[in-house]
Amino acid sequence: MGFMLVCPILTSLFLMPAKILDGKQLAQQLRSELTEEVIEFIQNNGAVPCLAAVLVGDNAASEVYVRNKQRACEAVGIESQLHRLGSDASTEDLLKLIAKLNKDAEVHGILVQLPLPPQMDKSRVLSAVNPNKDVDAFHPENVGRLVQGRPRFLPCTPQGVQQLLVRNKIETAGKRVVILGRSEIVGRPLSIMLSQHGVGGEATVTVCHSRTRDLAAVCKQADILIAAIGRAKFVTAEFVKPGAVVIDVGINRAEGGVVGDVDFEAVKAVAGAITPVPGGVGPLTIAMLLRNTLLAAQLLET
Ligand code: NDP
Repeated sequence: MGFMLVCPILTSLFLMPAKILDGKQLAQQLRSELTEEVIEFIQNNGAVPCLAAVLVGDNAASEVYVRNKQRACEAVGIESQLHRLGSDASTEDLLKLIAKLNKDAEVHGILVQLPLPPQMDKSRVLSAVNPNKDVDAFHPENVGRLVQGRPRFLPCTPQGVQQLLVRNKIETAGKRVVILGRSEIVGRPLSIMLSQHGVGGEATVTVCHSRTRDLAAVCKQADILIAAIGRAKFVTAEFVKPGAVVIDVGINRAEGGVVGDVDFEAVKAVAGAITPVPGGVGPLTIAMLLRNTLLAAQLLET
């Protein structure tokens, strides 16, 4: 009898629609905090933080990303430069440009927009950026520092996910986190950050990938499930423990617009909290790029 009374209450609790974790609103708040810090930096140092973006070739999505990043810079008082190379440029051409930007005292952050054309050696290019100006945190020195728990810059998307959790007061300490995806840009560094000591860390992290067996069962153990695989609506309700926090990093172009890696409507009914796509992790990634550019300026000017 008791069971029959409690069960519907539990069921209705779990069927409550998830809290929507609004990345757009949080990014606005972070940007207004940054605007204040940028003003203070300029007053104290007489220099304006400056981000140089390098765009190679004519990838339409990259054009949009770079334009959005430049607009975001301007909105918080950070200067932005755009340097273009043609799609037939060589690795040497790009290395020359990077060497010039490395030396330019007015440039604090350098961002090489990926992907690069196939003829280019990505790893040589990313290793050529001055580690003190490496606002994407892709340079081996910055990756090594992150792994050792003494980061200079935190990579932008993982940092955005961590801030989303911290600012929404979602505890990570002692929690079971499952990350879908092991890329160098998202899954791998995020797994390191969430398992490290300190605020937004201390989690027990499992990283899944295309060779993981019983994927849905592994994901279903997560208190916090993070999807970064680039497969539209791949994560269905069967992957999600009732009440879990679901963070969707995916950006997939589909009919009718952009969708995430999570089947939002189905998972919303099971999860305790969930990020939308668009309007979740994406805006935070850009906010973190701005934060890193200010940090680079602080490192170089003070
Ligand atoms: P990658 O393609 O570099 O990596 C994808 C990862 O997912 C790989 O580790 C791959 O496994 C794994 N994977 C792919 N398919 C499956 C599957 N069916 N089952 C299990 N694992 C799978 O992607 P990124 O990390 O660069 O990006 C992931 C997504 O996040 C994309 O949609 C991208 O657009 C988006 N993104 C969003 C950003 C934002 O600001 N919101 C920023 C960066 C990326 P394996 O290693 O075995 O191949």
